Amino acid sequence: YMIVPLVHLRDVLGVICVTDRLEPGPFTDSDVAYMEAFAESLSLTIHNGMQYRAADELATIDEGTQLFNRRYFNRVLPQEVVRAKRYEHDLTLALIDIDFFKQYNDSNGHQAGDHALAAVARILKDSFREADIVVRYGGEEFAVIMPGTTQEDGNGVGIVERARRQIEAANLMFVDSMGNRRPLTVSGGVATFPHQAQTSDDLFDLADKALYRAKARGRNLILGV
Ligand code: GH3
Ligand code: MG
Ligand code: MG
Repeated sequence: YMIVPLVHLRDVLGVICVTDRLEPGPFTDSDVAYMEAFAESLSLTIHNGMQYRAADELATIDEGTQLFNRRYFNRVLPQEVVRAKRYEHDLTLALIDIDFFKQYNDSNGHQAGDHALAAVARILKDSFREADIVVRYGGEEFAVIMPGTTQEDGNGVGIVERARRQIEAANLMFVDSMGNRRPLTVSGGVATFPHQAQTSDDLFDLADKALYRAKARGRNLILGV
């Protein structure tokens, strides 16, 4: 046997185990030297690959909230639709937007706004299931991809409605433009594959239109298609 460690700086990345020579006889010094050189260049390649993957993973997370970012969402939504199609389960998309957030900032300051944003993100993260993908889509906009929802829970509207109530109850108070003290709330639009939309683009459009209607109807409201 010849066992050659794959080492980068001080990290052991693995080993190469060489069992046989092509010609008979024991391994020679030049065999060892050759394999060591090979292991060195291979270690560097593996190390670089791991670095790249770590960097790529970092780039899928939003710094402010630790939720997934829009970049990740855009990549994963079409993939989840394909998966839902293949495994024949429903897939619900919710788009959620904080109500009057500009006024929250004006009332409490931008830094308090940042804290409220983090608090809303945490509530969202906690109120959905482990398998759901919670995303910060934009400044004060969130998206949640929910694989495996059923029509019994109103195609996911009920789940989002529960999150809405928790946010309203979180006591993030501000004074609105009319001078009224009120809690921070969110509005949401919800659409489900395959009953309402067959493609990820249509799913997004329908959820976005439902969100728009929720805003128009006075906010603090979750609407389905
Ligand atoms: P609407 O109910 O119609 O959604 O009103 P809105 O004020 O929430 O919406 P609008 O799009 O007019 O303003 C969004 C505000 O969100 C403006 C911007 O200053 C604030 N915002 C976006 N990202 C951040 C952030 O990271 N931190 C803070 N503090 N504020 C943010
Ligand atoms: Mg918005
Ligand atoms: Mg808003």
